[in-house]
Amino acid sequence: MSSQTQPISFEFFPTKTPEGATKLALVREKLSVLKPHYFSVTYGAGGSTQEGTINTVKSIKEAGYSAAPHLSCIGSTETGIRDILSTFKDIGINRIVALRGDLPSGHRDVGEFRYANELVAFIRAETGSHFHIDVAAYPEVHPQAKNSLSDLNNFITKMDAGADSAISQYFFNIDAYLYFVDSCEKAGMDKPIVPGIMPITNYSRLAGFSDMCGAEIPRWLAKRLEAYGDDIDSIKALGLEVVSDLCEKLLAAGAPGLHFYTLNQSKASLEICQNIGLK
Ligand code: FAD
Repeated sequence: MSSQTQPISFEFFPTKTPEGATKLALVREKLSVLKPHYFSVTYGAGGSTQEGTINTVKSIKEAGYSAAPHLSCIGSTETGIRDILSTFKDIGINRIVALRGDLPSGHRDVGEFRYANELVAFIRAETGSHFHIDVAAYPEVHPQAKNSLSDLNNFITKMDAGADSAISQYFFNIDAYLYFVDSCEKAGMDKPIVPGIMPITNYSRLAGFSDMCGAEIPRWLAKRLEAYGDDIDSIKALGLEVVSDLCEKLLAAGAPGLHFYTLNQSKASLEICQNIGLK
């Protein structure tokens, strides 16, 4: 299928121990057979994983792959962001996923950036066109949005602040993504919005995540996964079928790539890619 030409990327979170780093390097090597465009690495709000994110992107670079650190701005100062941008530049990074992030509970100091559009504008003002900037998109609406229209307008403002492309929150209803892309195009914003793909391997964890981030698991799917209880093999088999089908339809509908939330595992993402003919 033509999907071979669409870039895929894989997202990791930073590991906390040397053993974790060794395991993640193995996961990365397994996924590298798919020739991903880049590996991205998440960044804890307020810089809580700063060192881990830097070390993980460094090791991805050292292994010869492209790395894209995420950078969240809530709770940060301009000086802090300037310093980390300079560190990223020094280690040869030229792609960033720019986010607002969420303040950890109990923290009240939002710092010097309120929203991701301010971070995007700051990165552009400080570093010109050095970085390719990705931002987050929410086809099913960000959980804190005032309403769907203001969320769409805020997204377009963020793109117009200097982002090059976006990665979406995961979803299982393809219409949410297609309508979102269509609404952006109607508003004159036609930069690429790459769908974020969440493999299904564990129902209770997925349900927890989805509640938190506002991603809807369709009722029929939730009910079926729930009914499998502890039967992990059946959950994985249905998950593989449903998510492979979603990816195939997305690429057929013109999605500009696929970004996998790997949760630092290779198997589920690899199986999906193999299922849809990516080698
Ligand atoms: P924003 O774009 O700033 O939007 C946040 C909310 O504010 C939305 O409701 C929006 O409608 C509203 N808003 C935006 N701009 C304005 C404005 N100018 N005026 C008024 N309201 C506005 N979190 C992490 O902590 N680390 C990560 O590494 C990370 N990676 C992610 C990667 C992807 C692809 C995605 C989809 C999410 C990721 N997140 C990560 C989660 C993200 O940080 C949260 O969803 C967070 O709540 C919002 O971040 P944002 O950049 O989308 O915020």
